[in-house]
Amino acid sequence: MLGFYVIMGKRARDANVIAGKRAVPARLFGADRGDDMQELTRRRFLKGAGGLALAGSAAGVLASQPRVVVVGAGLAGLAAAHDLVEAGFDVQLAEQSRRAGGRIKTLRDVFDDGAWVDVGGQTSGPGYANFFYFSTLFELEFEPQSVFRGRPEVILDLEGKRYKASELREHPDRWPLALTSDERPLAPMRLLSHYLRPIAEQIGSVERVLLPEFAHYDEMSLGRLLESLGASEPALKLIEHTLNYNSLDTVSALSALRDAVRALFASGGQALNLKNGNQTLTDAFAARLGDRVRYRCALQAVEQDRNSVTLQFETQAGREVWEADSVVLAMPFTALRKVRFAPELPAARQQIVDELPYTQVVQTYLQLSRRFWSNEDNVLAVYSDGPLERLFNASSRMSGERGLLVNWINGAGTAAMQKLDAEERVEFAVRELEKIWPESRKLVEKTYSNDWGKSYAEGAYAHYAPGQMTRYAADIPKPIGRLHFAGEHTELVAPGMEGALTSGRRAAREIIQSVTTA
Ligand SMILES: Cc1cc2nc3c(=O)[nH]c(=O)nc-3n(C[C@H](O)[C@H](O)[C@H](O)COP(=O)(O)OP(=O)(O)OC[C@H]3O[C@@H](n4cnc5c(N)ncnc54)[C@H](O)[C@@H]3O)c2cc1C
Repeated sequence: MLGFYVIMGKRARDANVIAGKRAVPARLFGADRGDDMQELTRRRFLKGAGGLALAGSAAGVLASQPRVVVVGAGLAGLAAAHDLVEAGFDVQLAEQSRRAGGRIKTLRDVFDDGAWVDVGGQTSGPGYANFFYFSTLFELEFEPQSVFRGRPEVILDLEGKRYKASELREHPDRWPLALTSDERPLAPMRLLSHYLRPIAEQIGSVERVLLPEFAHYDEMSLGRLLESLGASEPALKLIEHTLNYNSLDTVSALSALRDAVRALFASGGQALNLKNGNQTLTDAFAARLGDRVRYRCALQAVEQDRNSVTLQFETQAGREVWEADSVVLAMPFTALRKVRFAPELPAARQQIVDELPYTQVVQTYLQLSRRFWSNEDNVLAVYSDGPLERLFNASSRMSGERGLLVNWINGAGTAAMQKLDAEERVEFAVRELEKIWPESRKLVEKTYSNDWGKSYAEGAYAHYAPGQMTRYAADIPKPIGRLHFAGEHTELVAPGMEGALTSGRRAAREIIQSVTTA
């Protein structure tokens, strides 16, 4: 089903074919031009779920199939390819690695006793409508997100001493830090939402985040906003340890407010995980797309003119050049920085591609022969002001005695880790764990460590620095000629996995609409 014409490499004989252009039907769908995708769709995959389809068989409607190349088989590229195929386009998806999924990766065979872990995208949340739509479409099974029984304990490791959060809540006078009396009952986990909640309530819904009246929150860092709201110095330090961005000083306050609004007020979708991991979703997409996905096919250069786009790939068999009518670039900007464009991207867009920050994350998993901590506490997490930063209990899916802990280091703390190889990172985590629980080293059975900074994405997920959300809002998702941009980083109001899926569907919609209005 390879619908593309390779003009170099193995399929050079097809080169003459690409010169021929074919007419694309002006009113492909018979729907009003420029209508929302819902209006373009006539057939639904799932009742009420927003599927994309055409009247009758798409292939029957299209006299000649417009050719689309999607680059990147992460959630964004998979969703774009899926919707375009369903709409009758001739789609080829190019993926540089051997597998689909990108930053969705479920480790199934590393640990014992039935444990699996999502080392990339982990939790869906409220408002994850596309995530639930596709999971339901592919008939995937869900499981409840939290499977901890009883009241889990949080351990604080502050200035080399261990404290139980429950004890500090009961005896606020024992806090080793000069938190205010309001802050003590909330620390550490609820401090951030406590400070952001009143503004999040004012914003009210994620769709309102980019309204001009909230733009001033983008001009300041999250740290500065929290300071202006009266957060004490020790509270800021604690929040820094629980943060999912690089640091309080480098993330836009509006970016954090977006996440707070979504967590507090988004509706539609529930806090459920996919049974057996999120890779079941990307695997299902890949299976549905079949041989439309080409693996080990890395985009290197893009050239477009008024009539078509020519793409150069590095493949196992050497260099290949494909031609397409439209292209979806569904790869992180960190990867796009390495692609050559002719003509060059407009300067304003190139600047966004070059400067968008990615949150740095290093994870080190330790499987232990016994959950030594469960004798004293049902430990859910450890927050440390030392280099260990955070430790989460990932044992909930394990049957039997064994336990699984993951050390999670974000932002500035990863700088020291980046000099280490996986074995050294494991040794670091074991040594730090030993300082908190001296008996832990001898229980370590299996380990796994991953530095997302060393991946093709050069980080875990994009976030916005102060000023970037308002500056980028109009441009980041905008097509340039026949090039369409997808990926979590292009969706300003929907983060992570949902942002990726939303962006892929948006890019597909742009292409469908460009054909209907041609
Ligand atoms: C540690 C971690 C934790 C996370 N936690 C959550 C969470 O709890 N909830 C949540 O919603 N999200 C979370 N995320 C974010 C979420 O996983 C991502 O936002 C999402 O998976 C990104 O999808 P994408 O399609 O935009 O990009 P990717 O998944 O990065 O896909 C891009 C694809 O492009 C390919 N590619 C790159 N360069 C080229 C090239 N030159 N040619 C061809 N192909 C190329 C890559 O190999 C990759 O397959 C987390 C991510 C990480 C890493």
